[in-house]
Amino acid sequence: MPVLNETHELSLTSWVESANSGQSDFPIQNLPFAVFRRAASDEAFRGGVAIGDQIIDMAALAAAGLFNADAQQGAQACAGDELNAFMGMGKNIWSALRLALSRALRTGAAEEAQLKAMLVAQADVEYKLPCRIGDYTDFYTSVYHATAVGSLFRPDNPLLPNYKWVPIGYHGRSSSIDVSGQSFLRPQGQTKAPDAAEPSFGPCKRLDYELEMGIYVGPANELGAPIEIGAAEDHIFGLCIFNDWSARDIQAWEYQPLGPFLAKNFASTVSPWIVTNEALAPYRIEWSRDENDPQPLPYLNSEQNSAAGGYDVDMEVLLQTEQMRNAGQPAERLSVSSFKYSYWTAAQMLTHHTVNGCNMRSGDFFGSGTQSGPVHEEAGSLLELTVGGKQTITLSNGETRKFLEDGDAVVMRGWCQRDGAARIGFGDCVGTVLPAKV
Ligand code: CA
Repeated sequence: MPVLNETHELSLTSWVESANSGQSDFPIQNLPFAVFRRAASDEAFRGGVAIGDQIIDMAALAAAGLFNADAQQGAQACAGDELNAFMGMGKNIWSALRLALSRALRTGAAEEAQLKAMLVAQADVEYKLPCRIGDYTDFYTSVYHATAVGSLFRPDNPLLPNYKWVPIGYHGRSSSIDVSGQSFLRPQGQTKAPDAAEPSFGPCKRLDYELEMGIYVGPANELGAPIEIGAAEDHIFGLCIFNDWSARDIQAWEYQPLGPFLAKNFASTVSPWIVTNEALAPYRIEWSRDENDPQPLPYLNSEQNSAAGGYDVDMEVLLQTEQMRNAGQPAERLSVSSFKYSYWTAAQMLTHHTVNGCNMRSGDFFGSGTQSGPVHEEAGSLLELTVGGKQTITLSNGETRKFLEDGDAVVMRGWCQRDGAARIGFGDCVGTVLPAKV
C-alpha cells in the first residue's frame, strides 16, 4: 500500500524559499528526479532533484558524501547521466534518499550551507531523458478515449470486446522519445482518403497530440517470472507527463490488422521530471469497476489495487501557435482531464505486461494511453475535440484549428492536490511541430 510518512507532511517547508509558495510544482513534499546540465555548456549531464525553482545537483551531493548508508548509495547512483541503476535499486534505497533529502532541505536543516552550494537554477539548465528507455509500450487505458476514437474509426463497432478484459497495448519505439523542448519534423507517409481509390504520399495533414501519463519501471523481473499484482507497486519507480504525438491520417490507413506503426513513432515527448511513486502516495485513490462491467480476472485483481490502485492526477493540454508566440501570448488551454479516469491501474498494466513471462528492465517506459474523461471537454486529443476534424476550435486570437499546424507548440501539465496534502506538479511537457522536410 502507498504509505504516508514524514516526507509528505503538509507543514514541511524548505530553506529554498521558492518551494514554499504553494504554487510551485516542486515543494519539499515532491522531490522529483531529472537529468540535467547548465544549458549550452559542455558539462556532464547528471541527476538532479527539483526543489522550488532550483535543482540539487546529485553529482555534487554524492561527491560531498553528506548522507549515510542507503541514502548515500542512492545519491551515488544518481550522479551519472542515466538513472537506470537508481531506478533498479528499489524502494528501500529510494525511500532512504528521499528521507535524507527531505530532512536536509527543510527549514532550519544543518546541511543548508553545504546544499546551497549544490543548487542550480532550473531557468539555467537543459534536460535530457532521465534514463535509457530500453523498451516502450503504449497502453490504451481510457475507455472514454477508446470509445470516442473507436466510433470515429469503426462507427458500427467502437469498443472491441476484449477492451474490458485486457489492458490493451502495443509495443512502441523508444528511439524517438525525447524530453520536453523537443521539436520534430511533421511526418510524411502514406494516407488514403475514404473516397480515394489509392493511397498517396506526402506530409501528414491530421497531426495530433495525445495527453498521457508516462510510467517508469523500477526493479527488473527475470524472463519467465511475472510480476504479480501484489508486488507491482514495488516495480513502479514513478510517473511523468507524456505526449504521444499521432499522425491520424497515417494511422487510419495503416492500423489494421497489426495496430499503430509509423503514425506513432516519429516523436514522443516526456516531461523532464519523474515524480516518484512514493511522492504520489497522498494522491492515490480507490479503483473500482462499474458493476455492469466485467470484473478483472484474478491475476489483475487485489485488495490493494482496489483500495488505492488509482492516481488522482489532474492533467491539462495547452496550445501556443507560432502567431501567439510571436505576439508574446501564452499558451491557451484546450482541455483538462485526469488520470483518475483510467480503466486500468499502473499496477495492472505492469502485471499484465509480464504475465506471459515478458521481462521488464529498469527504465522501461509505459504510456498510459490518451487520458480522456467522460465529457467531451475532457478529451485528450484533437481527434476527439474536433470529432475527427468535423468541428473547428477557435482560439482567442481568432486562429482556428482542426489538427496541428507547423509552428504549433503543445504544452502538457499535470498536478496533484488533495486536502491535507501539498500541491505537487510534474513540470511542463512541451513539444513543437516543424514543417515537413519535403
Ligand atoms: Ca497513445
